[in-house]
Amino acid sequence: MKVLVINCGSSSLKYQLIDSETEKALATGLCERIGIDGRLTHKTESGEKIVLEDALPNHEVAIKNVIKALTDYKAIESLDEIGAVGHRVVHGGEKFNHSVVITPEVKKAIEECNDLAPLHNPANLIGIDACEHILPGVPMVAVFDTAFHQTMPKEAYLYGIPHEYYDKYKVRRYGFHGTSHSYVSGRAIELGGLDPKNSKIIVCHLGNGASITAVKNGESVDTSMGLTPLEGLIMGTRSGDLDPAILEFISKKENLSLEEITNILNKKSGVLGMSGVSSDFRDLEDAEAAGNERAAEALKVYGYRVSKYVGSYIAAMNGVDAVVFTAGLGENDKNIRNTVASHLGFLGVELDQELNAKRGQELIISKPESKVKVMVIPTNEELAICRETVALV
Ligand code: ADP
Repeated sequence: MKVLVINCGSSSLKYQLIDSETEKALATGLCERIGIDGRLTHKTESGEKIVLEDALPNHEVAIKNVIKALTDYKAIESLDEIGAVGHRVVHGGEKFNHSVVITPEVKKAIEECNDLAPLHNPANLIGIDACEHILPGVPMVAVFDTAFHQTMPKEAYLYGIPHEYYDKYKVRRYGFHGTSHSYVSGRAIELGGLDPKNSKIIVCHLGNGASITAVKNGESVDTSMGLTPLEGLIMGTRSGDLDPAILEFISKKENLSLEEITNILNKKSGVLGMSGVSSDFRDLEDAEAAGNERAAEALKVYGYRVSKYVGSYIAAMNGVDAVVFTAGLGENDKNIRNTVASHLGFLGVELDQELNAKRGQELIISKPESKVKVMVIPTNEELAICRETVALV
């Protein structure tokens, strides 16, 4: 079956058409600047890249143009070949602990979670509506970023605030990147020959957004992102954990509203804010090499925070079999892996530097005698969404 995987943002839409039998992407692409002007970048199976500058006034036009690109560039002959659509949905709240076939009731329930992800869920729903109009009768599945983490115990998801906020508004830790953490921990069990029912894995998903998850016996038992994707690690532009009193302190000093401060914490903080250089780790490493002290400092603080989280999840699970790195930075940057490994020396962790320098493949990069395995596993959220979709339809 050919499955169209859609990841819809407020002004962008990423897509992949995947053949579920071969698990190969037949086409991938990105619509940008929807509602502004519009650009569609389409990549064929052979890697040819086509940029189309047609106007994209809304998501429905974007999806129509995606289907046109898929037929024009021969990923499909006609739209009847699309057997199902898998939608990434960011927040499923406590309502969804697994993927579901989309029905009017499911859409209503997703809408009820809008409050929890005001930037993401409304955009995801727009993408679902647009696909329903253009591909009537094609089954659609919602795959939630939060679903994998619904196995967390209360001790991991409750905050130390009055219980009424949980009762009234469901303020709690939800966690994100669940599709990636689930896929990568599953691959780690296979790669490491671990027992799915008796394994302790820590997945470090380090991209622009970054989160760490403790996966015990195949289930998420704790994760670093919280009610929103702002908590936890320091990220490209997000602050991650901080003393909550800092908000009021800065608000008074700088005469800023809470909204303005939250915006700073989301968009102008992290390694970008710390270094004043960039949110991209390649730029930071270049700046460090050129002697930029703030860039060097930001990288140090970043690596320390990741290592601390890994340490705390070893305690949370009372042990660890494998620490796994994934996403842009986790897959490509040997330095961050070395930093974390150096903090795990007390467990006898040692990396094979030749393997650590490789990129783009699934690898165990720790030395064979290392009791704890360290792995690199490229994430593939689209393939995970495709698999979930096929399983449900
Ligand atoms: P997201 O999906 O969250 O947007 P990615 O998983 O694509 O992000 O990760 C993007 C980040 O990965 C970039 O900001 C960059 O800092 C980092 N990255 C990518 N390639 C490299 C590399 N070769 N070395 C260091 N960092 C890299």
